[in-house]
Amino acid sequence: MSMNLITLLYLAASICFIQALKGLSHPTTSRQGNVFGMIGMGIAVVTTIALIVKINAEIAATGIVWVVVGLLLGGSVGTIMAKRVEMTKMPELVAFMHSMIGLAAVCIAVAAVVEPQSLGIVATALDPIPSANRLELFLGAAIGAITFSGSVIAFGKLSGKYKFRLFQGAPVMFKGQHLLNLLVGLAILALGLVYTFTGDLSAFAILLVLAFIIGVLIIIPIGGADMPVVVSMLNSYSGWAAAGIGFSLNNSMLIVAGSLVGSSGAILSYIMCKAMNRSFFNVILGGFGADAGAGGPAGAQAERNVKSGSSDDAAFLLTNADTVIIVPGYGLAVARAQHALMELTEKLTHQGVTVKFAIHPVAGRMPGHMNVLLAEAEVPYDMVFEMEDINSEFGQADVVLVLGANDVVNPAAKTDPQSPIAGMPILDAYKAKTVIVNKRSMASGYAGLDNELFYMDKTMMVFGDAKKVIEDMVKAVE
Ligand code: NDP
Repeated sequence: MSMNLITLLYLAASICFIQALKGLSHPTTSRQGNVFGMIGMGIAVVTTIALIVKINAEIAATGIVWVVVGLLLGGSVGTIMAKRVEMTKMPELVAFMHSMIGLAAVCIAVAAVVEPQSLGIVATALDPIPSANRLELFLGAAIGAITFSGSVIAFGKLSGKYKFRLFQGAPVMFKGQHLLNLLVGLAILALGLVYTFTGDLSAFAILLVLAFIIGVLIIIPIGGADMPVVVSMLNSYSGWAAAGIGFSLNNSMLIVAGSLVGSSGAILSYIMCKAMNRSFFNVILGGFGADAGAGGPAGAQAERNVKSGSSDDAAFLLTNADTVIIVPGYGLAVARAQHALMELTEKLTHQGVTVKFAIHPVAGRMPGHMNVLLAEAEVPYDMVFEMEDINSEFGQADVVLVLGANDVVNPAAKTDPQSPIAGMPILDAYKAKTVIVNKRSMASGYAGLDNELFYMDKTMMVFGDAKKVIEDMVKAVE
């Protein structure tokens, strides 16, 4: 394969990746986007193997066997994981994948630093690595290490399964944390420059260890509702790590793909920050979580009374309303109640009720989670509204039906400046004339906070699994 053909194929793969990102930006084109992504990755992998053969024909014979073994092993594990993973566990899977990208970047950087001649960075083992390459290796390795350890902590926090303190959802904060982060960050920078200009291997080794440590330090103070921003931020970091390594290996494909992931992740982080009303720079520098223990913890008001009703009561209110706004949340996804919800929507629409869906940008456990869920049940797109488009309508709605949502409708974000979610925009469900909330108990949502909405006079709680409750509502509406 000639170098020209390799460049052309890399260009084709890059175009596929751009098309993939474009496709994934809307539910209607997301499948097409995925197909583009797969084709692009297929072209990139085959072309890279051809490139290895071309550059180093002698080691290619044995090297290719390892590449194929790696592809088969990684491909099989990836297929099994993707088939098994539940939609609600996606953020953990994404965090796990980011950690793998970070680790891969570190491994390649270490291999390149130790044996630069094998990767074509220098001609012979005796040649020193040029300073420009050392700078790229320092950046790629440091960002890769931060991505790895940060993603491992994010994985633990998102899964919520582990007892280890650092894996708990609550922020871990201590005195002098920001100063420590700053000092470690400066030390990494200083050691990186020492390595860049002198090639000192011990400076490289120490900066790598410090980068693993700061990855942990910048994620532990982030808790609860701020985790979506962390996931997209680590996504961005993993892209930049790959791009950095791409420069060292002189691989244009890795540079392009890494930059696409890095910049799209950064844009997503920015959008999420805006949605959560958080400062972008606080996020990328870490430590933007609220003080541990701030706000009203769940259970603090457990003794308070709430008004509760049955599915039949809820159905009565819904059928007598002119306009109903439905707020789906994580619990709807857990219950897999989207199809029952579509049935309820059809029945209500048939009876002349205007039904709209309100989507909060961080509802569920991954960006776009609720859009995907509703699209799966074929809820028409013209019934689905983003937060900024529908928030002004809650005041006129007769009934708001909150299904398995909690944090995204918590008025504490507006009323309690001490709350960990203070300042986060919410869906203004509390403004509706009547509010129906379905969940299984008075347990808190992801941020671990009590929710004043549940105690309001106009609110009726309908306890039970969302699927069962909605199915009962459908029967009652009939
Ligand atoms: P929440 O996590 O705030 O609340 C979900 C509610 O669903 C719980 O209070 C739970 O109460 C209820 N629930 C659980 N299972 C069921 C069921 N089977 N039937 C009925 N109800 C059920 O969800 P929201 O969507 O409101 O908010 C998302 C939260 O997750 C935000 O804090 C967000 O920041 C965070 N997050 C979002 C990510 C994203 O990218 N979108 C990623 C990571 C975190 P009960 O147990 O009583 O039933």
